[in-house]
Amino acid sequence: MEITQDFIPMSVVRKGTPLAASKFITIHETGNPSPGADALMHNKYIRSAANLARGTSWHFTVDDHSIYQHLPTSEQGIHAGTRAGNTQSIGIEICINPDGNFEQAKKNAQWLVAQLLVQLNLDKSKIKQHFDWSGKNCPATIRRTGTWQAFLNGIETGGEKAMLFNGCPNGEAVKEWQESLLKIIPGSLPNFGADSDFGGETEEWTNFFKNKVGLPHDGKVDDITYGRMLNKLQELVAAPVVTVDRVEIDRLNAANNELVNQIKIYNENYNTQANEKSKLIKESITQLQQINVLTTQNEGLIRQLAVLDAQIVQLKAIVPPPETVSWFKRMFSSK
Ligand SMILES: [Zn+2]
Repeated sequence: MEITQDFIPMSVVRKGTPLAASKFITIHETGNPSPGADALMHNKYIRSAANLARGTSWHFTVDDHSIYQHLPTSEQGIHAGTRAGNTQSIGIEICINPDGNFEQAKKNAQWLVAQLLVQLNLDKSKIKQHFDWSGKNCPATIRRTGTWQAFLNGIETGGEKAMLFNGCPNGEAVKEWQESLLKIIPGSLPNFGADSDFGGETEEWTNFFKNKVGLPHDGKVDDITYGRMLNKLQELVAAPVVTVDRVEIDRLNAANNELVNQIKIYNENYNTQANEKSKLIKESITQLQQINVLTTQNEGLIRQLAVLDAQIVQLKAIVPPPETVSWFKRMFSSK
């Protein structure tokens, strides 16, 4: 079943007041015997200016082929005839139009109640008649035909595991779904795991699962989705073979080996370059030391040269001038 959400505007009949923490579900019948008075018709009626001003509202209307939602399940409506009923319960109207199939409408209502029980983590003791709150004879047909217990018995929550997760509900049913996902898709839900909260991550992996089993990726866990999950879980029990994607693993291994090789080559290059650098540095130090020795030797030579220069000057001073030399020559050679 699809649920068409068409929330009525904020008004006298929708004040956005939260429902009390202890929640119930109240079953009504529309009591409207006009032909064509189906869920769509009541969706139009509840949105009419007259109704929005007059003060009646409830959460869902169900007929034999559709479900309309008029209020979020977190908000109060005005349908139970008492403060206790309005502040605590979600109101469901079942259409009784004569051109519809009432038995099918009841079945659809049972399906809807099952979804809500799972979503809100409630048991069947929380399902009430409008009568229980205010004493009004509603749901009138079910009461007149004595089929209330049969109606309750027909609400399947345990056997079929019917669920509908949308709009982030929490609870045990969500946790069970998350644990199933973890079994079927190891490594899914990496950040939050099975935390009982139907958040973005669970929606993402639900869509991943739905994609794998060929269902629309609408993030919803309905009875079909849950059925596929049960099949997969049974397959897992029947044949506990871990299926792995060999091609993908080989590809990842090859990529990993390639990376390890590159790191090795890089390390080798690095070591070679480091060795060469350290060799060059050592050579430079040796050359600097040699230059120091040469510089010291050079300074010694310069000092010796200075000494020699000084001696030359002294020698020049004691050598006689040339005319004295020639006078001596003449004096002693002529004798
Ligand atoms: Zn009622």
